[in-house]
Amino acid sequence: PAALRGAHVLVAGGGRSGTAVARALARQGALVQLADQRPDAVSSELRELGVQYAGDLREMPQGISLVVTSPGWAPTVPLLADALERGIRVVGEVELAWALRDHSVPWLAITGTNGKTTAVGMLTAILRAGGFSAAEVGNVGPPVIDAVTGDDAAYEIFAVELSSFQLHWAPSVAPAAGALLNIAADHLDWHGSLDAYAADKARIWGRGESLAVCNADDAHVMSLAAQYADADRLLPFTLAEPQPGQLGVAGGWLLDRTRFARDGAERIIETAEVRPTGPHNVANALAAAALARTVGLSAEQIAQGLRDYAPGAHRNVLVVTETAPDGRRIGYVNDSKATNAHATAASLSSYDDVVWIAGGLLKGAVAGDFGGLIEQAAPRLRGVVLIGRDRAVLAEAMRRHAPNVPVIDVPVADHRGMDEAVDAARQLALTAPTSGSVTVLMAPAAASMDMFDDYAQRGDVFARAARRVAEGGS
Ligand code: ADP
Repeated sequence: PAALRGAHVLVAGGGRSGTAVARALARQGALVQLADQRPDAVSSELRELGVQYAGDLREMPQGISLVVTSPGWAPTVPLLADALERGIRVVGEVELAWALRDHSVPWLAITGTNGKTTAVGMLTAILRAGGFSAAEVGNVGPPVIDAVTGDDAAYEIFAVELSSFQLHWAPSVAPAAGALLNIAADHLDWHGSLDAYAADKARIWGRGESLAVCNADDAHVMSLAAQYADADRLLPFTLAEPQPGQLGVAGGWLLDRTRFARDGAERIIETAEVRPTGPHNVANALAAAALARTVGLSAEQIAQGLRDYAPGAHRNVLVVTETAPDGRRIGYVNDSKATNAHATAASLSSYDDVVWIAGGLLKGAVAGDFGGLIEQAAPRLRGVVLIGRDRAVLAEAMRRHAPNVPVIDVPVADHRGMDEAVDAARQLALTAPTSGSVTVLMAPAAASMDMFDDYAQRGDVFARAARRVAEGGS
């Protein structure tokens, strides 16, 4: 902070977080330049604060002592690679927010390959049920820096969602407590390797300073915990019956057996009450409960918060159900937020007879990465419809791991591709060998930007197509 006054700082990327960073830095008295493709990335508000447009840079300008980068920029981006080579410090918005934070306001942080937004939403609802003025910030919420340095920052606690990118650029962050939900291959093109990705995720435990909530059912998470967390500060959670010191599930209840439980073991809420349904959401709820415990919330407050939580859009949402002439029911489920194999595996495992719509940008994943999920789902898969740029990789995975399941290829690279996919999925559902019901599940295991603006638009286009065929068809 003191070091920022008069410092020459380059903000790399003028998106939402970069704009917030430039504002905060200028207010700290730094001399701020902003690099972006778009000359209009420096708004008039930023210009008035003295922020200058630096251009679309590939090399570092002279005299810069600190770079604050947009979280999405990989270390291999030429400008950042140049800075790192010259030994100039490169950090992200979250690192800056950590440096400028009010030390009396604790951070409870969550990361993981999947479930971050859900778990942070649950945690925020719990904190509010416990009477805290809590802000939900980070990866999907407002920039952390805005909440930390904002004018109306009357928050007593932060529920922070951190992506692997944000953690990569935030080496000093040490939340009061941090949760690592799960680790599966994702974003390997950005991080370079699974080990590098996992090590960035493990920063959620503040190099051993933080209370460490960890998923005892995920061997990779536990090996990271052994390496990066303090053994005396572990708070493991499991979907099995908890050991002393753990949270888990017993007799249909979420059960706390950590040091925070009254009388050594305390029931929190029935699993059947957790929304959204499905075992992975019970895991998310356990992680949120563990974090809430560290700031003294009671089992009743945690249960109330979980009841209050309203699940987000595009995450396993049943859009519409149609009844076919032969009486079978076809449900159309939008899980557009399932953007990698691990999320999609959780989703596929929730349905019996399923026609799966998948594909898009696979972010460096290869056919072998889908073997486990396809083999597990194969007995219940009634058909697959493939869309998007990298669909050949999934086609190859299907040939290898479930050669008897029918696959339809949709080579249309815009929104009409989704319309065609839904039509094709409906045909598969109508002819599938089942007497009861079939689920058409759009859980693409891929990013959406080849065909759509983002996952939300992909989900909206799917939902519209599903309503069209379901209403036209019954
Ligand atoms: P994130 O913010 O990490 O992307 P979300 O809460 O938005 O996570 O959920 C993303 C997808 O991952 C959803 O489609 C959901 O089906 C799946 N999912 C949610 N929680 C888990 C979990 N704990 N393990 C595996 N998959 C999950």
